[in-house]
Amino acid sequence: MENFEEKVEEATLVAAKTPKEMKAMYRPEFQKNPQKYYPTQVFAKFGYSRHQCPKCQNFYWRFSEKQDTCGDSACVGKYTFIGEPTGIGKEEKLTYDGAWKNFEKSFTSARKPCTAIKRYPVVARWRNDVDFVAAGIYCFQPYCMTGELQPPANPLIQPQFCVRFNDLDNIGLTGRHYSGFIMIGIQSFCYPGTEDKTFFSEECVEFNLNWLIDGLKIPKDEITLIEDIWSGGGNLGSCVEYFVKGLEVGNMVFTMYKYYPDGKLEDLEIKVIDVGIGMERIPWLINGTPTSYMDVFDTSYKYLQEKLQVETSTEIWKQIGPYTCHLNADESDDMEKTWQMVASSIGKTVQECKQAITPVKDLYIVLDHTRAALVLIQDGALPSNTGGGSNIRNIIRRVFAIMKKNGWWDKLGKTKEEQMKNFLTLFDMHQQDLEKLYGKFPEYKSFGSIIEIEYEKWSSTDKAQQKKIVDSFNKKKALTLNDWIVAIESWGLSPDTITEVTGLPQPDNLYNEMELRKMKLTKAPEQILYQTANIQETVHLFYEHQNKFDFEAKIVEIFADYKNVENRNIVILDQSCFYPTSGGQQNDIGVMTVDGQKYNVVDVIKVGKCVLHILDRSLPNPDNSHYIGQKVHAVVDENRRKILRNHHTSTHIVFAACRQVLGPHVWQNGAKKTVDMAHLDITHYASLTEEQEMEIEKIANTIVFSSKNINKEFVNKAEAEKEHGFRLYQGGVVPGDTLRVVNIEGTDVEACCGTHCDNTSEVGIIRILKTNRISDGIIRLYFVAGERSLQKLSTQTKVLVDLQNIFKVKESDLVSTSLKFFTERNKFIERHKSATQKVLNLQMELFLAKDKYKNIFVKSTESEATLYFSFMGNFIKAQKDAGKGIVFVGEGEKGFVFGQFGNKSDFDQEKFLALLQEDNPGVTYKKCLTSITANKVKLDNVLQFSFSGKVKYEKVKKDLITLGLIEADL
Ligand SMILES: [Zn+2]
Ligand SMILES: [Zn+2]
Repeated sequence: MENFEEKVEEATLVAAKTPKEMKAMYRPEFQKNPQKYYPTQVFAKFGYSRHQCPKCQNFYWRFSEKQDTCGDSACVGKYTFIGEPTGIGKEEKLTYDGAWKNFEKSFTSARKPCTAIKRYPVVARWRNDVDFVAAGIYCFQPYCMTGELQPPANPLIQPQFCVRFNDLDNIGLTGRHYSGFIMIGIQSFCYPGTEDKTFFSEECVEFNLNWLIDGLKIPKDEITLIEDIWSGGGNLGSCVEYFVKGLEVGNMVFTMYKYYPDGKLEDLEIKVIDVGIGMERIPWLINGTPTSYMDVFDTSYKYLQEKLQVETSTEIWKQIGPYTCHLNADESDDMEKTWQMVASSIGKTVQECKQAITPVKDLYIVLDHTRAALVLIQDGALPSNTGGGSNIRNIIRRVFAIMKKNGWWDKLGKTKEEQMKNFLTLFDMHQQDLEKLYGKFPEYKSFGSIIEIEYEKWSSTDKAQQKKIVDSFNKKKALTLNDWIVAIESWGLSPDTITEVTGLPQPDNLYNEMELRKMKLTKAPEQILYQTANIQETVHLFYEHQNKFDFEAKIVEIFADYKNVENRNIVILDQSCFYPTSGGQQNDIGVMTVDGQKYNVVDVIKVGKCVLHILDRSLPNPDNSHYIGQKVHAVVDENRRKILRNHHTSTHIVFAACRQVLGPHVWQNGAKKTVDMAHLDITHYASLTEEQEMEIEKIANTIVFSSKNINKEFVNKAEAEKEHGFRLYQGGVVPGDTLRVVNIEGTDVEACCGTHCDNTSEVGIIRILKTNRISDGIIRLYFVAGERSLQKLSTQTKVLVDLQNIFKVKESDLVSTSLKFFTERNKFIERHKSATQKVLNLQMELFLAKDKYKNIFVKSTESEATLYFSFMGNFIKAQKDAGKGIVFVGEGEKGFVFGQFGNKSDFDQEKFLALLQEDNPGVTYKKCLTSITANKVKLDNVLQFSFSGKVKYEKVKKDLITLGLIEADL
């Protein structure tokens, strides 16, 4: 395949205030004005009153004096529900999916009923600021929050699968933390005019209390509600968290503001209710189970436990359970002390507690991480080294390492194949459990390979990287938090492996710190170079009239180049056929006639709603009003547009072919269409084989030749999503309420604003030039289409003909003949190498045997000093014994001076270099040793030096004699 390199562009990042910093900043103001920020009337209606918690100083609402603290387990001291079922749990055990059903019933029949909608994919393709959905509201940010886009229902409820990677330290212990969990969401978007069906804070509290009291039958005095502040996703608002017997069940967020990276607030035009309820907590609370993990993992738990037979004494969990609320690594300053407190509360030693709990905790970690990985990969993400993919890699590798540490792989099966097969069954079990809620998952044939490949990578890279961390630890005698993070994020080691090889305990706040560092970085806002907000929108003629290349338009505005205000060469028209660079497609070029003068249009960009035409030179009249309103005539370079259009259209076709050949997990990760060629980046877990490349090319051309119509239309965004799913967003985020949907009949549907052919046959032959793995999990395919394919083909044909002439063989014999030449050449090189070594050996033996010469000078036929470096060490001992020296000089294209002396340790390399450079400019010093290890014996006071650069034999000889290093040549 072709050999060319391309630079991958990177996004710039800026520091922003973290949600935690935002909350601290606004807390005092909110606490002072409860009537302004909190729904105080509804609390009174339900008989709740406001108090300040004596422990944490937060304000909270309670039903009876019995609740003398805010109700947070941190203030109560423990979970008080463990071992004591409450509400409907007193009669019957509540299941995980039963919790959703109970909730759904209550909210779909509320005074202002909510509509239950399906979950969104956990991979947030509709957003460019986050990788994954970490809360239900992510599904509707940012466009539903700003009113640009209508939500699928309003108000709505949803059982959204979410992932979070900052709490990994706590998983398996606290019962509250998961990497993958279901957040029950309630969203109400208060757009103007929707007051009769949407609701804000007062009614929100009412409906939630109704659910707790009537739906779950929880006594009023077991509930407390705490006033707090919520911040995230660029928004801020007040919130009320509700607790039942020490456990936070839900958080009602009343989003009122958006904030800037520096923390400044701005009123939201549309206020939004966002309630998040951890579904895992409901059966746990209602049943009074020792830990939530016991209620959440059903079939998967039974399956794994049957294989592993982990000692899960519920007795110790029943005792520790109430206190696990304290084992939260990111809230506790000293985890060792916390453990001591927990242990003494139940009359045990820390050792006893940890011993009993660790294997069970590990079991829960395996269950949690595999479930999260299942949904992530099912929804189209892949493990990799970068971005969100690195989170998936982390959790999968953590599972591998935990399984190894506990000897669980062996329990899964006798052979490696059996172990992997049974491990993969665990994912099937999770799927069965989740299907009770979500319905059938689509079939995903390559899922198993993704996990297997990840396992192979883990077991091979692990060893090399393990050595690296051990070396680093031995050298520094300690590892900083930063060392841990580098080893995990850049070397792909799991923390458990680092613990295993260094014996160091894992820092308690490790994962939290890792997430925090990521959160500190946010994408920089784009620089605004031209102000177009108040200029009328340019009508895009290239959509409706895509074969129109010649047009007339009126000038709307003239801009000067922002880098050079003298250069007034930017023209905005009322309408244009010029396509501006966007969606990875290069801009059109052409000619524009203004005031009777012809200008070349050299670049076209889009700023806001306007198309900016950049001319090759400044317009002469300094007065804009002279031009505004004038008619211009312009012509687009038709041939260039056709090539770009073909390359663009072929990107859709190649993408469809990739999905057909590789599987439905393939997503577009980026694309670029230039005149020379196009490239497409796809997500895939392994490099492409030559067979796969050929198959993709074949299928792409089948699509071309089957003459499929390509339909382009503007449609309502919500409807398009409903019809085609999130697969639409291959090309990235599209703001606004309408989408331009490009539909290649029965082949590919995408939201896309580029220029496309009307039929696939117009694209012409597609040729894949090469494929590259540009990062872990991302494959780049380079290809050409139509005219460019023919040009490529003819260059390649010329190379073939030239080769045939050189070898004087038929085309069909070209490969075998080339192979023969290649093999012969390699044999020749080998033979040459051993012959040269023999000659050098003889030369040295002769020189060492004769007493006549002490230090000599040899003209070499080698082009580099490589041979002497690898071979001369063999003679250094004999040279030392005999007190002899030798210098080789190569006069070739590269040139070198290599010397080896048995008795010269006072050699002044600087002085020699200066002498050399006088007569041989460009020579540089390479290496000088006064101690050489030969045959495992170290010899001091000897000399080996090397200089490289074009040198002249006679001149070097003169310098060496001047320095007194040698007397004569051989
Ligand atoms: Zn409190
Ligand atoms: Zn397109």
